[in-house]
Parts: sequence; C-alpha cells; structure tokens
Amino acid sequence: MRGKTIVQLLNVQKTFYPSGVKALKGVNLFLEAGSVHALLGANGAGKTTLVRILAGEIQPDAGEIFVDGRAVNFRTPKDAMRQGIALVHQNLSLVEELTVLENLFLGREPRRLFFLDKKKAERRVKDLSERLSLIELNKRVADLSMSERQKIEIVRALMFGARVLLLDEPTAYLSENEEERLFELLVGLKKSQCAILFITHDVNQALKIADRVTVLREGETVLSEETSKLNVQRVIEAMGFRSS
Ligand code: ATP
Repeated sequence: MRGKTIVQLLNVQKTFYPSGVKALKGVNLFLEAGSVHALLGANGAGKTTLVRILAGEIQPDAGEIFVDGRAVNFRTPKDAMRQGIALVHQNLSLVEELTVLENLFLGREPRRLFFLDKKKAERRVKDLSERLSLIELNKRVADLSMSERQKIEIVRALMFGARVLLLDEPTAYLSENEEERLFELLVGLKKSQCAILFITHDVNQALKIADRVTVLREGETVLSEETSKLNVQRVIEAMGFRSS
C-alpha cells in the first residue's frame, strides 16, 4: 500500500561553479510516509548533492520541491527542519564524553531547547527511547557502538520533529550485525509513518531494506521503481556497471 507523499522533487537541477560540473540534470523523486526509498548511484552520480538540496544546505538552480503538496524553497537547513526534514550525516556529531541523554539535548538548534518545557522534553525523550528501544540514557557515548550512536542521532532528529530522515551512507561504518540492527530500527520508523531516504552504493542492501529504488547516473534519474519489481542485475546495469 502506498503511503502519503510527503516530499516530491520535480526536475531538480544543480551546476557547481566555477567548475561548471552539472551534478543534477533534472532529477525527480518522491518520498512517502511509512516507506524507505533507496537512492543509488556510482561515485559522482549526484546523490549527496540531491540530499544536500533536500536538507537546505545548498539551493537548486531549477526545478521544484513540494512538501505536503506545497512548493517550498529551502534557504537554510533550518527551513528544511521546520518542514520536518532532517539529514543524519555519515560523520556522526555526538560528544563522546557526554551521556546519551545529554547528547539528546544537544540539538542542532540548542536555543530551541531552552524554550522547551523541561518536563515535556523529558517525557518526549522517554517516549522516543521506549519506542526505539534506546540504549541506557545515562551511558557515555564513548562506550557505545557505532549503530547505537547512529540510533541516538536519529532519535535526536525525531525529537526536533523530523518525519523525513535523510540517511547518507548510514551503513558505511557498521558491522554486519550492526547493519541488521539499523534495519530493524528503520522498520520501526516506517511503522511510525516516517519517510526515509537511504543513500547507498550497495545494491543488495538497497533491495533488502527499501520499498522503492531510484538510481542516479551522471546527474540523471535512470531508474525509479518499486523494489518488488527489480532485481540486482537491472539495478547494477542502471548504475552503469556490467553485471556478471
Ligand atoms: P559519492 O558516492 O562519491 O559521494 P555522489 O553520488 O554523492 O558521489 P555528488 O557528491 O553529489 O555525488 O557529486 C556529483 C558531482 O558534483 C561530482 O562530479 C562532484 O565532483 C561534483 N560536486 C559535488 N559537490 C561539489 C561542490 N561543492 N563543488 C563542486 N563540485 C561538486
């Protein structure tokens, strides 16, 4: 069953100057509530550029972005966050010496937290940590595994009201076991009606976790299809590699 479309990109283009590199040449993509959408592509295909545009870090030259059916224009990451779109970086940004709880309150917009009712904020953490079976709140981040740290990053985004999570190569530093746990977490997030964009190089991984796969090649959308209608060969070929 298809969920409600939260985000839609139409013909998004981006050229970087002074090099003149056309990173995106007219990309279309949609993200639905309660689903994982994998974004695949070889090095330099334009994946990170697309994610940075969605996160409000850079602006497109042309094309449109719709959130809940309304055209938006993100000038800063704050604009994207206000619409519930959060980028979870591959370079994690937690403070090792602090506890899980302390890190959760170290938001990207710390000033917002001062205005939060402390009781309300604590209830929100408790609620989220139970829902996502979060690690002990009083543990130091330095003592946690990579997948546990990632979970905290995600919970923190949810605390700030994220409903669209942009995960840029989230498995890059994970063991196979940790990857499995991340996938369990994503299944839980789907149940909460989050929309997830999952960027990866790994075709098998994409087909395993995603409901839909989009492949970028040299800045263009060359494939966008429900996972159930795809196989590894088709995706690899779309990426521009030869399948064996
Ligand atoms: P990778 O998998 O290697 O991270 P990618 O699919 O994320 O690649 P992008 O990082 O979006 O690809 O890059 C697309 C193209 O745009 C590349 O040719 C890259 O060199 C270029 N590019 C990306 N960011 C910039 C920038 N800030 N300035 C100039 N060129 C850039």
